[in-house]
Amino acid sequence: VARIRAHAEAGLEKAVVESDGKSAAPVVISYRDLFRNTEELSKKIVQLLASRPDGSPKHVTYLANPSIAYVIVELAIWSAGATCVPLSVHSPAPELEYFVENTESPLCISDPAMEGLFKPVADKLGRAFAVISGQSPLFTLTPAPGTPEAAEGVVQFAAGDAALILFTSGTTGKPKGVVHTFSSVTATYESLTEAWSWTSRDHTLHVLPCHHIHGVQNILNTALFNGATVEFTPFDAGHCLNRITSGDITCFHAVPTIYVKFTQYLDKCTAEKRAELCQGMRNEKLRYMVSGSAALPVPTMTAWAEISGHVLLERYGMTEIGMALSNNMGGTRFPGCVGWPLPNCEVKLDEEGGILIRGPCVFKEYYRNEEATKKEFTEDGWFKSGDSSQCGGSAEELQVLQDGAIAVLKATGRDSSAVGTIPEDALKSIYRIMGRSSVDIIKSGGYKISALEIESVLLTHEKIKECAVVGKPDETWGEKVTAVCVLDGDLSLKELREWGKERLASYKVPQELEVVTELPRNQMGKLEKKKILDRYKA
Ligand code: ATP
Ligand code: MG
Repeated sequence: VARIRAHAEAGLEKAVVESDGKSAAPVVISYRDLFRNTEELSKKIVQLLASRPDGSPKHVTYLANPSIAYVIVELAIWSAGATCVPLSVHSPAPELEYFVENTESPLCISDPAMEGLFKPVADKLGRAFAVISGQSPLFTLTPAPGTPEAAEGVVQFAAGDAALILFTSGTTGKPKGVVHTFSSVTATYESLTEAWSWTSRDHTLHVLPCHHIHGVQNILNTALFNGATVEFTPFDAGHCLNRITSGDITCFHAVPTIYVKFTQYLDKCTAEKRAELCQGMRNEKLRYMVSGSAALPVPTMTAWAEISGHVLLERYGMTEIGMALSNNMGGTRFPGCVGWPLPNCEVKLDEEGGILIRGPCVFKEYYRNEEATKKEFTEDGWFKSGDSSQCGGSAEELQVLQDGAIAVLKATGRDSSAVGTIPEDALKSIYRIMGRSSVDIIKSGGYKISALEIESVLLTHEKIKECAVVGKPDETWGEKVTAVCVLDGDLSLKELREWGKERLASYKVPQELEVVTELPRNQMGKLEKKKILDRYKA
């Protein structure tokens, strides 16, 4: 919040923008007005929290669409010395209940659009409730009638206090409440500012949900920390591409599915429109485009490089740590790799290839879940990510990586000689994600196989639109490499195996093919392989 005040004093005009491609003019708020509203609302939050029941924590859950109001609520909670708990606008009432109860939040805040859903939850659980309303440049926070409110309260917080509780995506189980402190959230802003060269001149288009680490921390708050502009827009491929090519946008962060949707949209455009958009993405102001939150298949990356001229900057992070590994902003980006450790993050592998992380960016604990917290840390304080990785590799493998990188650079017309000159130790220390130890590492016939690697190959088949590779329990093999695919046309297992044998080691070629119309994905577009595997158990 001190940074917001500084940006306000510096007179930075565009803090947050809302655009939807339909309204005539986008809505804008300056840092000065953002700060003024934050101060006003925080007084109210202090009063509401001062009358909370004894023993309940200063946690405030809020439910708001990504918007100026969302940002004001977040900053006002921090300004009140309390903890932000943003919830997903797509959650049904029982999930919201779980989050409010799990974090023991005494106060719930909502934007008017979510009030009908959220107020009954707060009422049922007996929590104070308030609504943020208004429009730029003036917002107000109105407690529900009868809400107890103290005349005043105290604002107090330290670097080690909880700043943010975010829930994990729930890809492998029930979402866990991850507690970040003021110092761990700041470590993320500093690390990304340095690695990706953020400044107040940046203007990012924001299309991700704001209850998840990617949208909240890596994009929104890092931008605000730098006095940059955040433009929220509901995801619509056409509108987003128009904005990205407008010359306003300097950086764009998304998940792999979004680039697939862009590609599909461009395929449906007229040749002229497509050419215009592809050319537009080659504008100099657009510094970089990021992919993260899930594995970026190499074919998606290469296709996007050809379309846009941007070699997607792939990085690896998770709710518990913010961001840990990233390809280089200025230098080489390797397909199928997530790069090197970011500032504020130490990374190493355990004997089984599991990624361990340590440093100021790491979270404090799973809220009120000492057992889980304890289980996920080694005795000497490394956080166990649950993901498997390889660091560097044999000379042969490194050559494959390098050839891949050169192919991508060539596709974009970029100077591919840069790859050739990369220091050998940088190549030796580059990380590749093999997948989640629990669902992506298939143990078949004595081999340990990365499902992600096979998926990347299968996606180059012209008839395979989407796929999830899993290990189906099998008496003989332990697990059978099984490809669950959404197809465009007909494809038999026999045909797939023949095609696969030319591209994969024989033990990696799918032994089974299951054709589906849709793959289970969560709100972040992540594959929910556990759901597929649970079917085999049933
Ligand atoms: P839960 O912990 O509830 O099961 P989740 O792990 O999906 O859900 P997040 O914290 O949102 O919750 O996601 C972090 C995970 O996303 C990482 O552990 C990793 O498996 C995956 N991930 C993130 N970035 C990448 C990437 N670039 N490549 C491959 N996987 C990635
Ligand atoms: Mg996780």
